[in-house]
Amino acid sequence: MAVGSTLSSPLGPPACEKDAKALEFIEEMTRNADKVQEKVLAEILSRNAETEYLKRYQLNGATDRKTFKSKLPMIKYDDLQPDIQRIANGDKSPILCSHPISEFLTSSGTSAGERKLMPTIKQELDRRQILYSLLMAVMNLYVPGLDKGKGLYFYFIKSETKTPGGLVARPVLTSYYKSEHFKNRPYDPYNVITSPNEAVLCPDSFQSMYSQMLCGLYERHQVLRLGAVFASGLLRAIRFLQLNYAQLAHDIKTGTLNPKISDPALKECMESRIKANPELAEFILNECSKENWEGIITRIWPNTKYLDVIVTGAMAQYIPTLEFYSGGLPMACTMYASSECYFGLNLNPVCKPSEVSYTIMPNMAYFEFLPHEPGSYGSTRDPNPKLIDLADVEVGKEYELVITTYSGLCRYRVGDILRVTGFHNSAPQFHFVRRKNVLLSIDSDKTDEAELQKAVENASELLREFNTSVVEYTSYADTKTIPGHYVIYWELMVKDDTVNPPTDTVLSQCCLAMEESLNSVYRQGRVADHSIGPLEIRVVKNGTFEELMDYAISRGASINQYKVPRCVNFTPIMELLDSRVVSAHFSPALPHWTPERRR
Ligand code: AMP
Repeated sequence: MAVGSTLSSPLGPPACEKDAKALEFIEEMTRNADKVQEKVLAEILSRNAETEYLKRYQLNGATDRKTFKSKLPMIKYDDLQPDIQRIANGDKSPILCSHPISEFLTSSGTSAGERKLMPTIKQELDRRQILYSLLMAVMNLYVPGLDKGKGLYFYFIKSETKTPGGLVARPVLTSYYKSEHFKNRPYDPYNVITSPNEAVLCPDSFQSMYSQMLCGLYERHQVLRLGAVFASGLLRAIRFLQLNYAQLAHDIKTGTLNPKISDPALKECMESRIKANPELAEFILNECSKENWEGIITRIWPNTKYLDVIVTGAMAQYIPTLEFYSGGLPMACTMYASSECYFGLNLNPVCKPSEVSYTIMPNMAYFEFLPHEPGSYGSTRDPNPKLIDLADVEVGKEYELVITTYSGLCRYRVGDILRVTGFHNSAPQFHFVRRKNVLLSIDSDKTDEAELQKAVENASELLREFNTSVVEYTSYADTKTIPGHYVIYWELMVKDDTVNPPTDTVLSQCCLAMEESLNSVYRQGRVADHSIGPLEIRVVKNGTFEELMDYAISRGASINQYKVPRCVNFTPIMELLDSRVVSAHFSPALPHWTPERRR
């Protein structure tokens, strides 16, 4: 609730002094978007003037936009790979950035099957913290009273490795949760969470989730908001509750801790919190053993005002399931960020998921925009296309995001397509349209067409001895199951009737062979995070893909240009495919994955 009349902001009455400052900061940055951008670029270029990268392009110390734009090329990760490899191997000279590289952030985007390595510097943690510090100030404008309770958030760390040169490589959120910014955050009544640090920081995902759930259950009446980073993570927590509620209720009933919680720091922390509460245990058993889990979130946590999860982009596929479990609670998508850089925030976080727009904060990096034709999946062929500045983008147009960061990325293509929906002051607001070249995604995995093609090719090797080949295929991310899984439809051709057709065992092995050739983020999701279920191959009747083409043509596709879609999600097409399935096969084992990189 707004305190007194002295505090004000064009965004609305701030809830407290701290929020007033945060909102003022947003106003200041967005009012002067172009000026801030000019300053950010000059800062980045002057501090990195002596780097090998900027010298390579003869920037000669220039810090103005015009020279920068005329001399620096727009690049992709693979262009930087040799430089990044040198840093990873231990070269400490200023290659991309004048500040020492403190660690690598491992992106969920991949290059040659491995996570991309993004060099970062210590100071970037502070910049990310600035963005985090704005989120609650905006949320408090829309949801009053968040200081009267807590947030139940499911946060996890993931495994980390070291590069040959000794730098740590880990996901950006793991880096954040392990930082002082998170561990020693000052008390803020508007931002208290039920999970203790020991639970968030426990590397064992079962122990971490179990403890976070247990704390959330004990404090069920205090919980005012419930979340995870992505929608898939929150659904995994619900599934976890389905599988483990009996044990959780047992712990609550008896006041004893599940012996599986063995991590010493976590065990000590949880033992100090656990106490017998038979009434609560009874309630949980009663609710969770009901057949119907519709509205389970609000039944267990009745004071929840909203879900705090990203449901934009690839996560939109989870909206119906989340609505089912939450009885239609609002879903707040608060921020838009990546390993390369945190971009911005949603100034109207309780809007409908389909209306979410992110305001890019001009202080985070220098942003440019490559015009993108809606509907085009190709990349620009022009090696020197004209990039548009943040303040000059046009409402209704789509662009690919290109960033220049304090950590040393220069005119780097992020791969996200954004559409301008409007402006807040002079800062544009963007609808996240999609990530380029992503065909399938369940959690943070992103599988592109080439990876899928390669996986099908590798798996179909196993069919050779049966004189059988895959004549057509398409795919589908099935998110009706939790966790979701990839479904690949195969139409087979048996070339020689005298040979036995491939058996279920062979086709199941084909599923595993496909998984083995998918990228490391997919395999990590299967093996370590359990966020992706076993891959399924559905064999369809001969002639099915011809029917698919007939259907597309009947809906206006050109017969000359028709291409089999490599991923489908349009209900009539799914129905057609599913009605032609002759057999279904699942991967019988986990693919190989270790935190170590293959290259
Ligand atoms: P990573 O580099 O693994 O952190 O992934 C970053 C990518 O995740 C971004 O470039 C986007 O494609 C996607 N992403 C991040 N935040 C959002 C969001 N709020 N909505 C949709 N997609 C997002």
